Amino acid sequence: MTDESIGICESSPVTVLAGVGKARAASYEKLGIRTLGDLIRHYPRAYENRGDIRLLADALPDGKSALILTVASEPKCVRLRSHKSFLKFRAFDESGSCEIVYFNQDYLKNQFPVGSVFRFFGKVERSGRKFTMSSPVAEPWSEFAQLPPLWAVYRMTEGITPKQIAKDIGAALALLAAAKEDPLPASLRERRGLCTLAYAEEHIHRPNSWQSLSIARRRLVYDEFFCFALGAAITHRSSREKGAPICANGDVSALTSRLPYRLTSAQERAIAEIRADMAKDIPMSRMIVGDVGCGKTVCAAAAMLIAVQNGRQAALMAPTEILARQHYADLEPIFTRLGISCALLIGATTAAQKRNIKASLASPEPSERLQVVIGTHALLSDGVEFAAPGLVVTDEQHRFGARQRALLSEKNLHAHLLVMSATPIPRSLALVLYGDLDLSKIDEMPPGRQRVDTFVVDESYRTRLNGFIRKQITEGGQVYVVCPAVEEQETASDELTLSEIGEDGARREEHAPLKAAVSYAKDLQTEFPDARVAFLHGKMKSAEKDAVMQAFSAGEVQILVSTTVIEVGVNVPNACLMIVENAERFGLSQLHQLRGRVGRGTRKSYCVLVTGGTGAVGETSRARLDTMRSTYDGYAIAEQDLAQRGPGDFLGSTATGTVRQSGGLTFRLADSGADVSILTDATADARELLTLDPTLRHHPLLGSRVFAMFDLAPGMIS
Ligand code: ADP
Ligand code: MG
Repeated sequence: MTDESIGICESSPVTVLAGVGKARAASYEKLGIRTLGDLIRHYPRAYENRGDIRLLADALPDGKSALILTVASEPKCVRLRSHKSFLKFRAFDESGSCEIVYFNQDYLKNQFPVGSVFRFFGKVERSGRKFTMSSPVAEPWSEFAQLPPLWAVYRMTEGITPKQIAKDIGAALALLAAAKEDPLPASLRERRGLCTLAYAEEHIHRPNSWQSLSIARRRLVYDEFFCFALGAAITHRSSREKGAPICANGDVSALTSRLPYRLTSAQERAIAEIRADMAKDIPMSRMIVGDVGCGKTVCAAAAMLIAVQNGRQAALMAPTEILARQHYADLEPIFTRLGISCALLIGATTAAQKRNIKASLASPEPSERLQVVIGTHALLSDGVEFAAPGLVVTDEQHRFGARQRALLSEKNLHAHLLVMSATPIPRSLALVLYGDLDLSKIDEMPPGRQRVDTFVVDESYRTRLNGFIRKQITEGGQVYVVCPAVEEQETASDELTLSEIGEDGARREEHAPLKAAVSYAKDLQTEFPDARVAFLHGKMKSAEKDAVMQAFSAGEVQILVSTTVIEVGVNVPNACLMIVENAERFGLSQLHQLRGRVGRGTRKSYCVLVTGGTGAVGETSRARLDTMRSTYDGYAIAEQDLAQRGPGDFLGSTATGTVRQSGGLTFRLADSGADVSILTDATADARELLTLDPTLRHHPLLGSRVFAMFDLAPGMIS
């Protein structure tokens, strides 16, 4: 150990690394990386499959290939005008010979002596029988010292090269390895056959085999769930100890008698359960789950009424501004009729209004006090104080009940908590994700709901599909077209993402070309010159998104092309056709959610799932998607999804098709594919550990991980 490395720990800034100065630190900051620990937990987003050695003749036509080639000619430096140059030489294998070119890298001239053997990794250009590779990665090859088959690929940002990030992560691992204590008790590691944390961190970044990667990932996924389960249980206990206001008057007939419909018996049951919970001084911790359109909102409204008529305040939080606005539009008239004051607090609210709302929420004088506030999840963290908190409702946040409760606890908000979710979660996962929430399941739809006819088609139906769109809009209907989100760094076709890596390293799925929302909207506009086509994608400002959504709601836009930012819960009853492009890229549950956007009014509605692939790829996705034609039960679909795709869709941000969760509590690895048994084991182990060490006093390393995961100030839990 050198002098400088003394005192270096996970929370040391990245600038302690040699060669990391202010500029690179600023780039790291953009990736959310400040400390060495952040850097180590910047897990690869994919791996280059350099172990799949091919012959030149079999090089992949449109991806990078790994080749073992022998250098055949001495590298020659060719000078071009304007200080440019390139280096070229020939190399061969048994199937042919290839020209290798490096631009402006003369210094490589002596690296490739004739007769030496390298593993080259890069794209092979082919014209006739001529092969060329430009600037491939070259690693000296020997039969005796095998090169690792996998090479980590990271989420990047400007100002950092892949080489630098790999080097910095390597340096961080090396600096911390000596002092690394494993937060997980050895007994647990043994019982579950898990590797050490040091091994896991090393091999997630630099796997030396498929197997070591799989072992590493197993441990890290276990940790995420173990910490999640610990945090959920601890905050649950802590909130119970703090108590909540008793709301004894649970009569909601003022609300229900004014509804234009009769509650279903499932809704009645849910409201009765809420009433019973809120009458106690133990905080309610309840989730209402039920398929899209089953009528959860009115149950939440009933809960809010109970809070208010017992002299308390209620807050309703939605994951996005669009949804918050919609809730406000639905609920404000109801509350106003009941003489209950109600306000919308979102980013677009003016500063003066915000000040008023906040002052009124905090008012000590009950007659001046705002009773209901509706907003996004920023509500709780925006310097908002409640004079008499009674109830917090969150919509579409199935896995964040725990986080919300932690926030309430941290803010000393002793309130009841109600979580609504339209994401049917398979039983095995429900136990993990909300085992500590009480469930009210709404398993009955309001009468008269129509079935959305569903079709699975491929590209060959494009013309007919356009005809069908035309028919719907001519008849006055509206159409959603959903394309998969195109991320800045869509995984290249030659990389393997974690979810694609099986235990054997086999590639699971081929991807078809993606329809990108913006350019597709243009095409549709050309196809339908008389209709108004608009698009929505995640990178738009929320005011822009709102404007588009509002135009669609108002019927001014006939075709809305979007990535999955059309939120769960958006309600445009006139929309009657949902088209999902590259449907094979979506989880079945997601598709079910999307399908729930139509069939909400009186128009006969349809859902068309378009697969992008052809041939065998198309056939496989088609078979999977056929479930959607025969099944309309969200739970059955969720079980299928779990069996086919693993739990990623339910854990990650994609489960509800909404935006990525801000703040803590994101599963980094489990998102990308994990084994359900790891999750259930981790949850059981967490519960057991807490019976022995309820405050994690004897496991301080674990404690600090849990706090970090839940974004909590240490010491919140006592
Ligand atoms: P979700 O559970 O998906 O949030 P909502 O609460 O938005 O569903 O309800 C969907 C629609 O169904 C709303 O327009 C609501 O007014 C209506 N609705 C709710 N309950 C009933 C019922 N019992 N009978 C008829 N319509 C209902
Ligand atoms: Mg809803």
